[in-house]
Amino acid sequence: MRNTVNIAGVEVDSITMSQAVDKLKLFINEDKAHAIYTPNAEIVMEAYKDEGLRSILNQADMLIADGAGVVLASRILGLNLPEKVSGIDLVRNSFSMDIGRKTRYFFFGGKPGVAEAAAENILAFHPNIEIVGCRNGYFSKEEVPGIIEEINRAKPDILLVALGAPKQEKWIHENKDKLKAKVCIGVGGSLDVFAGKVKLAPERMRKAGFEWLYRLYQEPWRYKRMLRLPKFMLLTVGIKLKLVK
Ligand code: UDP
Repeated sequence: MRNTVNIAGVEVDSITMSQAVDKLKLFINEDKAHAIYTPNAEIVMEAYKDEGLRSILNQADMLIADGAGVVLASRILGLNLPEKVSGIDLVRNSFSMDIGRKTRYFFFGGKPGVAEAAAENILAFHPNIEIVGCRNGYFSKEEVPGIIEEINRAKPDILLVALGAPKQEKWIHENKDKLKAKVCIGVGGSLDVFAGKVKLAPERMRKAGFEWLYRLYQEPWRYKRMLRLPKFMLLTVGIKLKLVK
């Protein structure tokens, strides 16, 4: 049973990081493909306006709060999510998860060579996992059946889909039933981080909830997308005061 809280129409799991890892283990042992999405404030804001995206997020098997903005919104609404459970941290923690055998990963997304570079870096620190396939994230519609076949031949436990949001959520939703992966996680730019191409904010900055500020400094062209963050906060206050639904 999922324990969720409704943030601007999106049902986010009220879950800690360690509970999320336990759930991931359960999913790996079940005989179906599960979808995990990791919306931040920008995506919740987008889903508020886009009913299709909202419905995709609300059909997830686990939806975790990726970012201080979503946790802050939950506090404003009096719903108190226990903590931020970012997608990249969940994936990192999964590398040391014990499932009684090597966990199998497929990395799908990023520019050519990024998934392979990420795999090499990760394997250097986590020899106890297996990376059973890599595929860049640039493809035509016609190539999708071939990509699914490639993933299915590799039989991963965990498929990381790094196409950026909301493309990755839509891709997973559309193809989940054809995939022989136990868990599909939308991970945004995480493969770029694992590959060493993009830096995460320093730990103390991330803990303090300022990862967005660091991102703005590193990728200033994102400012337009990031303007959704203050709008999201205003929306949350509006919902709290019952000014909007
Ligand atoms: N990407 C991809 N295929 C596409 C568009 C994007 O593989 O058609 C990749 C891109 O190379 C990058 C990631 O998706 O690695 C998007 O990262 P971003 O940080 O923009 O995602 P966010 O975390 O903001 O969703």
